[in-house]
Amino acid sequence: MPLEFQFTCPLPNGVHARPASALEEVASCFGAEINLTNHRTGRSANAKSVLSIVGTDIRLNDSCSLRVSGADEADALAALTTFLVNEFPRCDEALPTVARNGERPLPPGLSQLGANIRRGTPVVPGIGQGRLALASGLCVPRHIPTRGATDFAAEVRKLDTALSALVASYEARLTRHASRLEGDLIKTHRSIARDPEFRARLHEALRRNTHTAAGAIADTEAHFTAMLLASESALLRERALDLQDVCQQLLGQVYGKAAAAAEPQLTEDSIVIAESLTPGQFLRLDRQRLKGLVLAHAGTTSHTVILARSFAVPTLTGVANLASAGWAGREAILDGDAGLLVTDLTAAVRRYYQTEQQRLAERRDRERRFIVPAGRTADGERVEIAANLTSAEEVTVAFAAGAESIGLFRTEMIFFDRDSPPGEEEQFREYCRVLKAAGDRPVTIRTMDFGGDKPLALLNLPAEDNPFLGYRASRLYPEFESLFRTQVRALVRASAHGRLKLLLPMLTTLEEARWAKRVIAEEQAQCRARQQPFNEQLPVGAMIEVPAAAFLLDQWCRELDFFSIGSNDLLQAFAAADRTDPRLARFYDPLQPAFLRLLQKIVTDAHAGGKRVGLCGEIGGQPQWLPLLVGLGLDEISAAP
Ligand code: PEP
Ligand code: MG
Repeated sequence: MPLEFQFTCPLPNGVHARPASALEEVASCFGAEINLTNHRTGRSANAKSVLSIVGTDIRLNDSCSLRVSGADEADALAALTTFLVNEFPRCDEALPTVARNGERPLPPGLSQLGANIRRGTPVVPGIGQGRLALASGLCVPRHIPTRGATDFAAEVRKLDTALSALVASYEARLTRHASRLEGDLIKTHRSIARDPEFRARLHEALRRNTHTAAGAIADTEAHFTAMLLASESALLRERALDLQDVCQQLLGQVYGKAAAAAEPQLTEDSIVIAESLTPGQFLRLDRQRLKGLVLAHAGTTSHTVILARSFAVPTLTGVANLASAGWAGREAILDGDAGLLVTDLTAAVRRYYQTEQQRLAERRDRERRFIVPAGRTADGERVEIAANLTSAEEVTVAFAAGAESIGLFRTEMIFFDRDSPPGEEEQFREYCRVLKAAGDRPVTIRTMDFGGDKPLALLNLPAEDNPFLGYRASRLYPEFESLFRTQVRALVRASAHGRLKLLLPMLTTLEEARWAKRVIAEEQAQCRARQQPFNEQLPVGAMIEVPAAAFLLDQWCRELDFFSIGSNDLLQAFAAADRTDPRLARFYDPLQPAFLRLLQKIVTDAHAGGKRVGLCGEIGGQPQWLPLLVGLGLDEISAAP
């Protein structure tokens, strides 16, 4: 006789992927067969399969039962009962999304036009128009055959090996994920990858249609996507994206780089929608055609958003239900000022946005009058206006927009999405490209800053509860000394080819600064010995982004040549509010008096020590904060172009 436990679903959003994957995780610990039944729909499922569980379509207050039979059934039932009573009801906390501006009225003029409008949080302003392209949908490149397999066993082996490798890669990512949100997402993907129903469907697809592994993946993806999209629950429909993501990864495991072409290839002006997008994925999109970006989850200072801002790609975040059926392919307008995604473009809506575009162009023209060779306040105080960049391509855009110099060149992007780090020559060429594009203007290049929201898979860093406060940026340099030295060597050599300034991120103690300076001096000595040209007076500065550093500036001034306030990190450590977590936005407030006092102290102390101090965090690009920043007496403000 199987053991049984009856329960009523306590979850307001029903059993979507997250609660299902939590249940699956408990069930999978036991050998017993565990069957879940939703008595309202009459559907039953294997409780060790997330896809099967969500297929029972359990909603709030549905009456359900679990039947357990097998050798360890008593233990399994006890564990499942404890889970269902104590943890299950809490599995449904809403995923953090950026607060949506649902209350804000639509712009006058647009509200009457009956357009189909989705709201989000505007994080990069501007208006973009194009076809909606899903960044997560599965796409098998044409050169990979989907049918005509002759060796069934070989295809099964390929898929099984790839599934194991995929699960292992999710496990590895889980041990070093950057946030709870990312961790939840990876767990959901892992549940799908190890789902017995998912595997069974893959095998069945191989058997039925002489599919190749690629064909079986496409078939399985279509099967489960259809099931999820048919659900009445918006949360379940959204999970179609996760499924597609897993299938895409699986394809990559089987076919390696050959599957890479499956990333969205933008063939026309497009607005890309994605649950989330890594900086690397963003950089691989064709930026000529990328007219807008819609992300479900991303904080305003996440690196993908920083990149989007840098390339002036209008962006919304916090847009729910991205996988709503039928979005892809539709023409849309993204309004990054009002926070709107507008589809079903009627003639009236198009006219409205043509007028808006014109208004924006006129405003840009008016603003262009303020571009001056050297920034100065009306009463004559000098404030250098600089740009934050991540690639040499942006230099021209930045200078055209009025930058006098490059205040922060983030080097991490050169390292992303590759199997091995770039060598000295490659880095040297890249830094020279930036310096050449900048001509005789100063370029501040920051040494690598991995960790936090900039994980680098190839460093294989261990898991951390608070990665932003943890093992990142310059704290990694002693362990990865040769990587750091390679970068320093490339920078020292590049210093002969422009006005390079070297910036060290996340320093906390004077000892760290002295250690980094010693490495720089040693690499300079090597260059000298090899008779390679370099700037003997290379300025070395530090980012002030750890509050502890802000309280020792009198001593820092004796060690370093200049400072740049990294307000993104400084504020999160100072206010104990994760910069990527939209739920903490009210604490992550640069206007709070305590933070303004801290900034004031930094500027005063740096000047007392005779050193220049700039600011390169995102607040530098926010016009509403500029009066305060200028009033603080900063020597330089560096912002997205
Ligand atoms: C900062 O922390 O303000 C900063 C500019 O660095 P990043 O955003 O790259 O961490
Ligand atoms: Mg920082």
